[in-house]
Amino acid sequence: MFYRPAKAYINLPALRHNLNVAKKLAPNSKVLAVVKANGYGHGICRVAQQLSSADGFGVASIDEALYLRQKGFLHRILLLEGLFSETEIPLAIQNRLDLVIHSEHQLLWLLNFQTSLVINVWVKIDTGMHRLGFSTEEVTGVVKRLEQNPNSFNIHLMSHLASADESISTAVEFTQKQIRCFDKTSEKYNFSRSLVNSAGLQVYGQFSYEWVRPGILLYGAGRLSESEYDSHQLKPVMRLESEVISLKWIQAGECVGYGNSWQAQRETYVAVIAIGYGDGYPRHAQVGTPVLVNGKRVSLIGRVSMDMITVDITEYCDQIHIGSLATLWGDDLPIEEVAKWSNTISYELLCGITTRVPMIEVQ
Ligand SMILES: *Cc1c(COP(=O)(O)O)cnc(C)c1O
Repeated sequence: MFYRPAKAYINLPALRHNLNVAKKLAPNSKVLAVVKANGYGHGICRVAQQLSSADGFGVASIDEALYLRQKGFLHRILLLEGLFSETEIPLAIQNRLDLVIHSEHQLLWLLNFQTSLVINVWVKIDTGMHRLGFSTEEVTGVVKRLEQNPNSFNIHLMSHLASADESISTAVEFTQKQIRCFDKTSEKYNFSRSLVNSAGLQVYGQFSYEWVRPGILLYGAGRLSESEYDSHQLKPVMRLESEVISLKWIQAGECVGYGNSWQAQRETYVAVIAIGYGDGYPRHAQVGTPVLVNGKRVSLIGRVSMDMITVDITEYCDQIHIGSLATLWGDDLPIEEVAKWSNTISYELLCGITTRVPMIEVQ
């Protein structure tokens, strides 16, 4: 029994639906469903179960990969940043994990380890993001050393787009440059290739190559505009809800919350909702952030506390009661909108839901 009303509902059919959207966007590619960071905060095991028709999973650490193996997933599992230390190699190979190699030190670990098993390696190429990856000039040498090593490597080539989700012209030009760079560097090989994440898949779907790597799209979120989302018919997976736990009228001139930072300009009916940054609701959500109470769109006022927020419900004073349902994000309130009001992105909000919020699966 969960007595605190703050709850995250996880819509399982929506996950499957969004995976099908990804498959339709790249009908000739395999889908590596990215489930890192505990399935973007939704629970890695439950997410992987729903996405079991994907061709593989992408995770951020061997811990996440081994957890999936332990739960019985036999899919290909790619460590998106590869290994963090040489000691992980035997474990990674025994468990048949796919490994990104992005730098010389990781390459050396693999070249110096002896195994009879074929290793799936994904050589990461830096096409301009300058985070991870070999420079385009290094790729030939890396490939040659892998091919000449006594171990058998099944080589893939990959890169990552820095701003596929931005539509301003400089970002578009930069993305096109990255695409050309990746294409040029990889075209002379016969290896499987992978370039696009969710935004790349949605906007530059013709560059899906053999593997696509959607993450946020599977959870029905992302930084694309609402109309772009509508056109792809993605369904939000998480609905964050709580309830009204207090109601009171305050006079014009009176303040609400910590620091007295919000002052009423008129007589105001204030509802307190049991959700706060202790649950992962963003503390930086600004005054005006939308919240649905009893289906009505109202505005956040005052500062977000650890366990509570306050909203102005003056307009709906006769329709909202103790126990009225509050939706913080979900079907009728896109998480992107809340993220924007908090100066962040949906990814951070989803990953930030804390363990005290029960997750309830919706079939
Ligand atoms: C996280 C990640 C993805 C997924 O990105 P989204 O924007 O969530 O689709 C794809 N590729 C790599 C290498 C990643 O690290």
